[in-house]
Amino acid sequence: MPLYENQELKIYNSLSGEKEVFKPLTDGYVGMYVCGPTVYSNVHLGNCRTFISFDLVFRYLKHLGYKVRYVRNITDAGHLENDAETGEDRIAKKARLEEIEPMEVVQKYTVDFHNILYKFNNLPPSIEPTATGHIVEQIEIIKEIIDKGFAYEANGSVYFDVLKYNESNHYGILSGRKLEDMIANTRELAAQDDKKNPQDFALWKKAEPQHIMRWPSPWSVGFPGWHLECTVMSSKYLGDEFDIHGGGMDLKFPHHECEIAQGQAATGKNPVNYWMHANMLTLNGKKMAKSTGNNILPKELFSGDNDVLSKSYSPSIARFFMLQANYRSILDFSDEALGAAEKGFHKLMDAVALIPNLPTSKNSSVAIAEWKQKCYDAMNDDFNSPVLIANLFEAVKIINAVEAKKATLTAEDLKELKESIHSFIFDVLGLEAVTALENNQDSERLANVVELLIELRAKARANRDFETGDKIRDELAANGILLKDSKEGTTFSL
Ligand code: AMP
Ligand code: ZN
Repeated sequence: MPLYENQELKIYNSLSGEKEVFKPLTDGYVGMYVCGPTVYSNVHLGNCRTFISFDLVFRYLKHLGYKVRYVRNITDAGHLENDAETGEDRIAKKARLEEIEPMEVVQKYTVDFHNILYKFNNLPPSIEPTATGHIVEQIEIIKEIIDKGFAYEANGSVYFDVLKYNESNHYGILSGRKLEDMIANTRELAAQDDKKNPQDFALWKKAEPQHIMRWPSPWSVGFPGWHLECTVMSSKYLGDEFDIHGGGMDLKFPHHECEIAQGQAATGKNPVNYWMHANMLTLNGKKMAKSTGNNILPKELFSGDNDVLSKSYSPSIARFFMLQANYRSILDFSDEALGAAEKGFHKLMDAVALIPNLPTSKNSSVAIAEWKQKCYDAMNDDFNSPVLIANLFEAVKIINAVEAKKATLTAEDLKELKESIHSFIFDVLGLEAVTALENNQDSERLANVVELLIELRAKARANRDFETGDKIRDELAANGILLKDSKEGTTFSL
């Protein structure tokens, strides 16, 4: 019997503002869509937090036994600067600045994104579609929305008619906004604007002569509006109605609001059952963002090469730090907080390492089954990872007490403790044990030490002290570090 039959998972649904019991549309199967990155720059730690939050969701759903189809897109076209309807395409702008093809920009930052998420031990999504790979589908859905009367063409561009939509639907249903308030708070349309109303948003934009990313369409040579790709790619791979849609809190409005409107307008169905929004990572109390420069890059974290940091931190420590906060809470990044997370992480991992050698007894003085259910209760409560981690520290206390012979466990309970700890730490939280060599700074230090030993060995050999030279080589080899002599000098491999 799959675990989900015994566990009642509740998810905080941004649409209702309440924790709701999770019931997928099809028993045993979950369709989940998460907005992916706009690949015009290196991802910062803020972006990573959101993707780690949804990796936790993906992992836990899988752990419960669901067959999950996780779709996360790559935005490689259509995202204009400042999320506005005007200005340059972010990718095209970068291509112009770097004097490369837009698709080179896309390739470079998609590779970076994958590498970084791999380092954080995020599982890859089941499908990772791109906006440029779905232009045809985007044109088709625009036609449908026009046919249903919810969009209009103006001067080669197509706009979603928000006022018309709001007559029979609620534009603002997700963000809790009222269209009247939005209208009252917006400025007049600029004279050159083709929209009927300032609230209308672009489904298709006619390309200005300088706009390099462009495709033919029935209306003009142009490009799709940013919100459209997610509607198209989620419905293509998950259906017109699916279970979970996620993204950062900052995407709730207008991006996700527009997604609901587009889906509802095209199909007459509410596309998403559970909307999940991950909260922001801040630095000095302000949102980490590319545009303001208030951010830290993962590579700076792994090397310690940033003034905010006193040292380097491994990806697993950073992941642990992030998961110690609830995904719906704001989390402030600081060197002290990471240092504290590192201590906690090692305490946890040290206890895990003790498990295989713990003594067993005829009776248990601790209730392991209850402890295990408390771990599930935490995760069932809207993926509450900080409470799960608190329970794992309860297990650390149990392990240390058994070690010190102040508590006892039967062989069966010990096995259950071990299996549960392993599955929660490694499968659900996705943490990895940090070894010295995985830690970049440590491996850099190690390389420096090996270089020094190579130098000392060369000196010894020059002085015909072959005994010392051989000893250095053999001792290094015994530790898995192999020296290779050649005409150019000595190199080593770890
Ligand atoms: P973008 O590439 O700008 O579309 O962002 C990719 C994802 O990162 C989106 O889901 C954003 O909501 C999310 N994001 C951006 N900044 C932060 C931040 N400071 N903390 C957490 N998530 C963020
Ligand atoms: Zn999206």
